[in-house]
Amino acid sequence: MNLTNGTSRWLLNYSLGMRSLSLVVIFAFLTLTSLSQINFPHLKNESFTYDQAIEELTKLSNFSPYIEIIEQGKTDVGRRLHTVVFNFNKEFDPTKIDRSKKAVLLINNAIHPGESCGVDATVKLFEYLSTHEKEFENLIVVAIPVYNIGGMLNRSKYSRSGQSGPVECGFRANYQHLDLNRDFIKSDALNTAAFHKIFHAWKPHLFMDTHTTNGSDHQYPLTLIVSQRNKMNPILAEYTYGKLENYLYQKMAEKEKEIVPYVHLMKSTPNEGIKDFLETPRYSSGYVNLFNTIGLISEAHKYASFENRVEYTYELLNTLCVFSNVNSTDLIRTKELANQSDRAQNQFTINWLLDTMSAETLSFKGYEMNLVKSETTGLLRRSYDNTKKETFPVPHYRSYIPIQGVSVPQYYVIPQCYPKLIEVLKRQEIALDRFENDTILNGGMYYLEGVTAPKEPYEKHYFHADVRVNENFQSVRFYKGDVIISLNQDARRYLVETLEPNAVDAFFRWNYFDNVLQQKEWFSDFAFDPIAKELLEADERLNLEFQEKRKNDSKFARDHMGQLLWIFQRSKYYEPEHKRYPIMRIY
Ligand SMILES: [Zn+2]
Repeated sequence: MNLTNGTSRWLLNYSLGMRSLSLVVIFAFLTLTSLSQINFPHLKNESFTYDQAIEELTKLSNFSPYIEIIEQGKTDVGRRLHTVVFNFNKEFDPTKIDRSKKAVLLINNAIHPGESCGVDATVKLFEYLSTHEKEFENLIVVAIPVYNIGGMLNRSKYSRSGQSGPVECGFRANYQHLDLNRDFIKSDALNTAAFHKIFHAWKPHLFMDTHTTNGSDHQYPLTLIVSQRNKMNPILAEYTYGKLENYLYQKMAEKEKEIVPYVHLMKSTPNEGIKDFLETPRYSSGYVNLFNTIGLISEAHKYASFENRVEYTYELLNTLCVFSNVNSTDLIRTKELANQSDRAQNQFTINWLLDTMSAETLSFKGYEMNLVKSETTGLLRRSYDNTKKETFPVPHYRSYIPIQGVSVPQYYVIPQCYPKLIEVLKRQEIALDRFENDTILNGGMYYLEGVTAPKEPYEKHYFHADVRVNENFQSVRFYKGDVIISLNQDARRYLVETLEPNAVDAFFRWNYFDNVLQQKEWFSDFAFDPIAKELLEADERLNLEFQEKRKNDSKFARDHMGQLLWIFQRSKYYEPEHKRYPIMRIY
């Protein structure tokens, strides 16, 4: 277009004018609209983009005095996390809410953005809350509409092979290519730091993380994970399994949206049994459970239509809101009692194993499954016939046996040279003190034995799957500024399950202390050889042990440096810090 042409200039002015006009119209729409105007994309097999979801929730926030959308901390992709909050009392500051009356439900969506039905369901939930506020007087709902923003922006048609819609969706990993649902302890992502702050600001009684899963084909568009009962505080477990779990299954069935426990296969088909998911603290629901928040995960079925996945997830969220509102007093009381009982507990389990000897029976609605020859590989593959519905009994393994426990010390002492760890602990609102002077303390120090590391990294770490420790009581020098933490606080369970190095998701396993695994000071054989001789001559017991080993271990007997190292590591020349876990336990 030639802009010197009079007609064109008029057209330009007209179009600029129209743009201003349309901005006014959009603004009016954003502030005054009635909510029936939300066009839910799942009805045509599409999903909200990140921007669309935030825009719809902003509109709801502008429309309803009971809803507020709030920017929180930064994520790895630079954009800030949002929370959208519903409160009938119109109070959106977590420091000012009436905690004696209000139950708090925290919802998290799109931690895996290819599994985004919870985003759309949450918009629908807040639309409902905005016009039914009186039904939820005792409840505050806090939702993170999109948690993994980087993954949500990385949108394509190819993020989820075989998934029944939506046409486009985000990708599982975040901007750092991390699975954020493994990051709640190790805390590599800014998203995680933001989550920690949101979680501790609101201190929710219930937490729901929305997902979508695959594995086998069956008739249920939605399945449910409830925090594993043996891992939970017993008071919280009794309430969760005695009241909440039954309610959710029953109400969803009454709404003709029947759900079942997460189809976590024992082998390759449901017929061979399913098992409860042991969500350890690296996962969102395992993390929140350390603070006596009931953790739930909705797992929609990848092969159900996207429309159904959104509608089922919405109904589950709505049902959970109704339950939480009616039972707010019980939820508040149960969390308090669980916190009190954790404080009184002197022993915690830090590792569990599935009990394969006891199973309940689940009546399962599946499809006829056959093994057929693959036209790609020529080998056998599973094939589900969706026209042949079948109901059959499935063994359901629900119990995990404690296999390792630990006594709770009175204090942990942490050297200040681990600032990232101390920062993560502070984010959990853990009360800590710092020494005002250098000091020597007596206490238990673990020596790390049998530590193994995999050949390939897992979520940015060489995770130590096997860790054995030996506790040794000794005097250790600490410095002004080092940290001492009392275990007499609500985070008692969190502290034990993260600072005990052999706990299943301990910081140690995530490589926070690999520095101590390497020996730093060595020797030259010609210089140490005469010293070794003197050491053996001066210590009869050591000498006997040494001669015994030479006699019984022919490889050792032929290894000159190996023998000197054996003596070196039993001498005062050997550094006590090698393989010593640097956190002291004080009883
Ligand atoms: Zn997922």
